[in-house]
Formats: sequence, structure tokens, C-alpha cells
Amino acid sequence: MENTKDTTMEKVVSLAKRRGFIFQGSEIYGGLAGAWDYGPLGVTLKNNIKRAWWRMFVEERDDMYGLDAAILMNEKVWEASGHTGAGFTDPLVECEKCHKRYREDHLESTEKCPECGGKLGEKKDFNLMFETKVGAQGNAKSYLRPETAQGIFVNFKNVVDTMRPKLPFGIAQIGKAFRNEIAPREFLFRTREFEQMEIEYFVYENDWEHFFEEWRIRIWNWIDVLGLSHERVREVDVVGNDLAHYSKKTIDFEYDFPGKGFDELSGLAYRTAHDLESHIKGSGQRLVYTDAEGKTTVPHVIEPSFGLDRAVMAVLTQSYTEDNLGKDTRVFLKLPKDLAPVKVAVFPLMKNKPELVAKAREVYEEVKKIIPNSMFDDNGNVGKRYRRQDEIGTPWCVTVDFDTLEDNTVTLRNRDTGEQERIALSALIAELH
Ligand SMILES: [Zn+2]
Repeated sequence: MENTKDTTMEKVVSLAKRRGFIFQGSEIYGGLAGAWDYGPLGVTLKNNIKRAWWRMFVEERDDMYGLDAAILMNEKVWEASGHTGAGFTDPLVECEKCHKRYREDHLESTEKCPECGGKLGEKKDFNLMFETKVGAQGNAKSYLRPETAQGIFVNFKNVVDTMRPKLPFGIAQIGKAFRNEIAPREFLFRTREFEQMEIEYFVYENDWEHFFEEWRIRIWNWIDVLGLSHERVREVDVVGNDLAHYSKKTIDFEYDFPGKGFDELSGLAYRTAHDLESHIKGSGQRLVYTDAEGKTTVPHVIEPSFGLDRAVMAVLTQSYTEDNLGKDTRVFLKLPKDLAPVKVAVFPLMKNKPELVAKAREVYEEVKKIIPNSMFDDNGNVGKRYRRQDEIGTPWCVTVDFDTLEDNTVTLRNRDTGEQERIALSALIAELH
């Protein structure tokens, strides 16, 4: 009896904290707004998502090139891209009495402070980039990048010159970006520091609609890799003021977080040739593609982008399951096996029998050779160990008992059904292979 409709964000967040997936940033000092740390299981889950993404979008394809650009970039990059201008700002208002600051478009009244009722001052454009100084003299200004995309555009020529790709082709990057949000939201939904997985896919102008459709299907394939149910994901056409001035078409993919509503998971944008044209103007360099006949063109761009922290939240939410296995409610994470931070847990049936512990250790070493993300656990009784592994989404538990000493068989337990089967150790090792 699964009752995923009873899943609430509170339950997911509580499990994520309790079991070492996500901690408040700088917690022992009272935290820092909009900053969260990934704990031992969270970082593994996140790395597994990144690895799956890189495999699917870079390694398994012949038209994709990886990149890892620096977070700090020449300030001219952000002038050319328009980020230092009015386009990358939030409307900020300050209360004249208590000096609290608000995002104007989040307020119900733009006249009165919601805290103290004081008069609100004039609206100011607040730039979202984190400014920093470079070097001991501190006279070169730089920014923590607010998006990973520009690192790709400024390396366009380097990739073309060194890899000689044929159009269409793409450049992919995973990395951190920073935005000084006025109002960071709860948990991982809007943080000041976040990780993006982004692709800039370069095409001939006439082909953009075709490739836009292709990438749309691929984003759905990725949603399947994350194990998200299609009923909880929707596409939203971005229109009007929300559509960036350079984009001719943008679709957001949103996930329905229980009790919270739809929130962005991924985006797909047709950015025309806007970015390369801007950097041609800004740098004076020829950022062009030359075909076999020697004809040059400034490629147009399809941009599929994915928020990694959002993906982690969606995967945790989708996986969170309660059922009635045994006498009480069981909480478990039905994580896709590829993404589970721990794949196999190995236990001795009892921890006070040295011969069982020794045999279990031996089995564990064998398993770990094949699946490094395995865990040995001899705390508490077997029932409690199962529950602990269920809560972190471990797909398989292996128990070593007295029969193992006689006939080399073990008990293999399935996370989702709770069913146990007796299996020869050699068969288990073969299956894990
Ligand atoms: Zn006030």
C-alpha cells in the first residue's frame, strides 16, 4: 500500500536532514540564508545524477563536447552578455522605518512594509551578481558567474579550433553558479549558490525547430532516468515578459512538489545567435563556424538546461514512499538503482557471533570489489538495519547467517517488496556483475 499522495515536503526535508543527505550551511553558527550543504549520502546521490547526465548527454553521443570553465571570468564577459545591465536585476525596495529589504514583485502592497507598516522607499534595480575583487591590488573587478552558459560561449572558438566538430554539435558543462537573491526560498528551491547542468547546442538557423523538438524528447528521456512520473511533470510555454528578449521560444519543465506545487526542473530555450553575436561585438573575435566549402556562419543555439539541486529534490520527493510492511508504517526511498547512494548492504545476522561477523566481512569484501558503493552494518538487530537501509534507498540487503557457514548461501532482500530469497553466494556475485 503505497500512499505517495500523503508525501509532504516536510517529510522529505526531514528525512533528508535526518539521514545525512542535506544539512543547513554553516549550521553550528546559525546558518547562512540560502546556503545548504550536501552530506555523505546527498553528495553521492548528487554525483550519481551528474554521472548519469554526463554519460547520457556527452559520453554516449558523438556530437557533444565537455567543458569545465572557470567560475571567475573577465568582467567584459558579463558586460557583453548583458548581465551587468538592467536585465539581470531584481526590483528592490527598502522600508524607511525598519530598513528591511524586499523584492517588490513579492509584496502585496508596494506602499507599506509588511513587518512594521512603515513607508517603503523608491524601487531600485538590484543586480544579482556577486561582485569580487581579483588579486592583491584588488583593482580588477570580477564576479562569481551567475550562469554556466557564458563559459561555453566564450570557449566556442577554442572547441571549434581544437576539436573540429561538424555543425550541429553541442558543448556541455556541469558547474556552480551564484545569484545574490534578495529572497532565497526554503530549502533547495532557490539558493544563492547552485549547480547547473547545461548544454549549448549549435545549429544552422533553419534547423532550429527540428532540434528544439529533438531536445524536448531528450529532456523527457532524462526525466525517465531520474525516475520521475510523467503525471507530475508538465511543460510550460514561457511567454510575454517572462521570455528573455533574445529567445524566440522557451519551454520550462516543472515538477509537482507535493503541498508546494509546480516548480522548475529544467528549461529548453532557443536563444537565436544572440550570445555569439554579443561576444563577437564585445571581443572583436570571429566566433564563426566554417563549413567544408569554406562558407562561414554564426550558429544559432538551442539551450537545454537542468538545475542539479532541483533534480536532487525531485528525485528524493518522487522516491519517498510509505507502506505497511510488517506491523508499522515503513518509510523508504524507492530510488532508481543507478542513483541510490548505497547499492548493497551486507550484515551478519548477529553481531556477537565472531564467526558470523568474520564471514559477513568476507562476503562484504567480495561484494565491494564489484560494487564500490556498498556498506557493512552490524548495528542493532536485522530488522532495524533493514529499516535504516530502506530509508536511504539501498536496493539490496544481504544477510549472512549460520547456514552461510555451512552451504555458502545468503539471504537477499529486495527493498521495494521486502521479499527475501535464499541465494548461493556465487550466484549473488554473478548477478551483481
Ligand atoms: Zn518596516
